[in-house]
Amino acid sequence: MEYKLPFREYHKGLVQNRLLGLKCNQCGTVTCPPQMSCRNCASYDLEVTQLSGRGKITSFTTIYVAPEGRETEAPYLVVLVELEEGPWIMGNLYDMDPVLADMELIGKPVELGCRVFPGDKYSDGPIARPAFRFVRR
Ligand SMILES: [Zn+2]
Repeated sequence: MEYKLPFREYHKGLVQNRLLGLKCNQCGTVTCPPQMSCRNCASYDLEVTQLSGRGKITSFTTIYVAPEGRETEAPYLVVLVELEEGPWIMGNLYDMDPVLADMELIGKPVELGCRVFPGDKYSDGPIARPAFRFVRR
């Protein structure tokens, strides 16, 4: 069995400002981050699709004690975002002081913003993570 969207390709997309997911040819469900099979019907009949990167915040947490290698980033905000296409993904939110985050964040529309970070002590170069910002109106 072959991965339709290996993590290496998903990561490359993030570096290039593109959020990639998998669309199921059986039921139409979009899966992101990429998995082996459809998150709805478990079909392997998937194709790579580019997502809008827009969604709304469903949950958040402020990290005060960072994992080893990310100490200089704390405190920082991690948000769970429901994407327009359906899947929920986690990412960082850089648009506000993490210490001031409160329940007002729930439901706020966001989009993927800048997302390449210098590597930490465990990576062999720059790394990309989903990073969100508020949708500007
Ligand atoms: Zn499916």
